[in-house]
Amino acid sequence: FLSERSAKVFVAGHRGLVGSAIVRKLRDLGFANLVLRTHAELDLTRQSDVEDFFASEKPRFVILAAAKVGGIHANNTYPADFIAINLQIQTNVIDSAHRHGVKKLLFLGSSCIYPKFAPQPIMEDALLTAPLEPTNEWYAIAKIAGIKMCQAYRIQYSWDAISGMPTNLYGPNDNFHPENSHVLPALMRRFHEAKVRGAKEVVVWGTGSPLREFLHVDDLADAVVFLMEKYSGLGHVNVGSGKEVTIKELAELVKEVVGFEGQLVWDSSKPDGTPRKLMDSSKLANLGWTPKISLKEGLRDTYKWYLENVKQ
Ligand code: GDP
Repeated sequence: FLSERSAKVFVAGHRGLVGSAIVRKLRDLGFANLVLRTHAELDLTRQSDVEDFFASEKPRFVILAAAKVGGIHANNTYPADFIAINLQIQTNVIDSAHRHGVKKLLFLGSSCIYPKFAPQPIMEDALLTAPLEPTNEWYAIAKIAGIKMCQAYRIQYSWDAISGMPTNLYGPNDNFHPENSHVLPALMRRFHEAKVRGAKEVVVWGTGSPLREFLHVDDLADAVVFLMEKYSGLGHVNVGSGKEVTIKELAELVKEVVGFEGQLVWDSSKPDGTPRKLMDSSKLANLGWTPKISLKEGLRDTYKWYLENVKQ
C-alpha cells in the first residue's frame, strides 16, 4: 500500500469523523490520487450508482468509512435506519469493489459488535458468542455482516478484504448533535454551551458508572494505514487505546478541558448501555502498532477544533 502512493484510493465517507482523519493521514503521507464523493454526489445505498462509480473510477484501494452512526439515543430511536442503511452501504461497496478489480479493501466497524457481557478486555474471538447490547444491536448486526462479508470474499475469491474494529472514537469532524451524538462530543458541546450561558448545572445521562475506552481518530487513521500495509488475515482486528475511564471520569475531564465550573447532575432515567467496553488490542500490538495520543491531549485538540468550527 505505502509503495503505491499514486494509486487511486477511494475513501468512502470522507466527510465523517473517521473518513476525514484517514484523508488527512493519507495526504500527509503523499497519497496523491484520493477518490472522494460527497453523499450528494454518490448515494452509497443505491446499488446501481455504486456499481457505475466503481466501473468508471476503478480505484485500486478502498477504505470503507461510510456508515450511519450515532450514540445510544439515536440507535434506540432509528433502528431501521441503522440496520438498513449500513447493510446497503457495505454490501454495495464491498461487492462492487471486488467485481471491479480493487486490490485491497478495509472495512471499519465498531466495538459494539461484541456481546454485551463479553469477557473484558474483549478479544476478537468473542464475536458471536452471546447476545448483543440491545440499544445498538441493529447497527452491530450490520457491522457483523460486513466482517463476515469480507471473510467470505477472502475465502471464496482469495480477495484481500480486511476489517478493523475501532473502540469509541472522537476528534475533529465528530457529530456534536445534542441528542444523537456519542457521549464525548455531546458533553463537550453541553459544557461549552453551559460555560457560555453562565449556567450552574449540566445534565449528564445515566449513572456515570459505565466504563468506556476512547481512541483519538488520528490514532485510528494511523492504524488503518498500518493495517493496509501489514495485514491480510481472515480475522478482524481490534483497534483500541487500552485505556478506560468511567463516564463520570470522562465528564470531569471534559469539564476541565472546556473550563466549565458548575455542577454535574446525573439523569438516571437515561440508559447506561453496556457496563464496560474495553477491547483487547494485543493482536494489533503484536503486529507492531501502538496508539500515541492520550485522552487529555486528544480532548484539548478536539475542543480547539470545536471552538474553530462551532459556528458551522
Ligand atoms: P455507547 O458507548 O454505545 O453506550 O454510546 P454513547 O457514547 O452514546 O454512551 C456512552 C455512555 O455515556 C452511556 O452510559 C450514556 O448513558 C452516557 N452518557 C452520558 N451523557 C451522555 C450524553 O449526553 N450523550 C450520550 N450519547 N451519552 C451520554
